[in-house]
Amino acid sequence: MRAIADPEFGLVIRGGTVVTAGSSAECDVGISAGRISQLGGVLRGRRELDASGALVLPGGLDMHVHLSSPDPPEAGEPRWVDDFGSGSRAAIAGGVTTIGNMTFGAEGQSLQQALARDLAAAAATAAVDYVLHPVMSVPSPEALAELPVLASQGHMGLKLFMISEEFEAHAAGMITAIRAAGQLGMLTLLHCEDAALVRFAGEQLMAAGRGQLASWAESRPVHAERAAVDRAVAICEATGSPVYIVHLSSQSALDSARRAKARGLPVFVETRPLYLYLTSAALRERDGGKYIGAPPLRESADVAAMWSGLADGSVHTLGSDHAPWSLRDKIDDTLDVTTARQGVADLETIMPMLFSAGVRTGRISLARFVELTSTNPARLFGLYPRKGTIAVGSDADLVVLDPELSRTIDGRSMQSNADYSVYDGREVHGWPRFTISRGDAVLTDGEIVAEPGRGQLLRQGRTAAP
Ligand SMILES: [Zn+2]
Repeated sequence: MRAIADPEFGLVIRGGTVVTAGSSAECDVGISAGRISQLGGVLRGRRELDASGALVLPGGLDMHVHLSSPDPPEAGEPRWVDDFGSGSRAAIAGGVTTIGNMTFGAEGQSLQQALARDLAAAAATAAVDYVLHPVMSVPSPEALAELPVLASQGHMGLKLFMISEEFEAHAAGMITAIRAAGQLGMLTLLHCEDAALVRFAGEQLMAAGRGQLASWAESRPVHAERAAVDRAVAICEATGSPVYIVHLSSQSALDSARRAKARGLPVFVETRPLYLYLTSAALRERDGGKYIGAPPLRESADVAAMWSGLADGSVHTLGSDHAPWSLRDKIDDTLDVTTARQGVADLETIMPMLFSAGVRTGRISLARFVELTSTNPARLFGLYPRKGTIAVGSDADLVVLDPELSRTIDGRSMQSNADYSVYDGREVHGWPRFTISRGDAVLTDGEIVAEPGRGQLLRQGRTAAP
């Protein structure tokens, strides 16, 4: 009798179709010490997971989530309902293995102080790997002096809000910050809506007695987004620094970014799921406030433009902008277009929805799906090839997606504490059978097995074009 040698690998993913942005092949994946150590061959592991009939894809990188906020100025004010713990569970359930959190400071706090708060919270509770994008609200000399420190620590994203009054008040300083960030190899994330135009639209509606949440789309017009994207492109041109436009929503704004790309400028575009599946008609439904995000839902021509951008490469990434509120806080009828609570839960649904509505329908290829959800964000945020691909030496962050697994979306049974989904009732085909994070099977057949705090802060390198 032949002695059975020790299995070579800690974990083997057996019999799936392994897909990256550049290739697709049926093969086993051998994993040791959290990394991919062999692709193909006859592999034996201490543990083996059956991926037959399923796709083995690089785990998702969702570089736009909100799982933290500073203490509200007034106690008792509602806030986002997820933290790094519940957010990690939503990520794992949906096949996302790396998250990028927007880190806001309280008034008067430095970027480092805000980061320290979120680093402590994430170290205690995050169950997937993460990076933090500090939000600079005022480009003070002190804040500008922090940028080289951030870069030396491997925090390579900087978030600015063109919609904020502070951006208007300190525009030249903001441009200086974007230049400095680019010179340090950092990527500047820009919320592109023009503050003055949005304020003007809101004032007009309020004066006309039409400030209700149902007017949300009119309160944030396309021209305000396009003006800000045009300005972002000009800032890119002026500084030579790359800019990353978060949650782009309209055809007109996409055309502006496309022209910049055609001129060779490093302007990168993220869109978010909301703009792929819903139009502004939803905002006029009863309880339409639950769909509010900024920019708002647009028209069907804009939805079509987002899909064509995903397919032709003029949209580079999909980010959930997971910013969950309870339904009650969201549809509170004391709110108006100037005080609406922005954002929805989307971490658990970002990948399955795109697969179901994008890949299965033939709107985008599977390779493009991998680029949008994993490879491109990994490159842009300085994490490639540790993340964003399936290759020997890369972290074993994988989603084993079963195209035949169907589920009707019901936010009440999902991981986010929002307890509703903007897609409630939709039938979605293609969910994770397994999610693997650094070699740990953190989701197996619908069950999440992940210790809070197992997630790690990732040290980012310089941003790179996809
Ligand atoms: Zn956001």
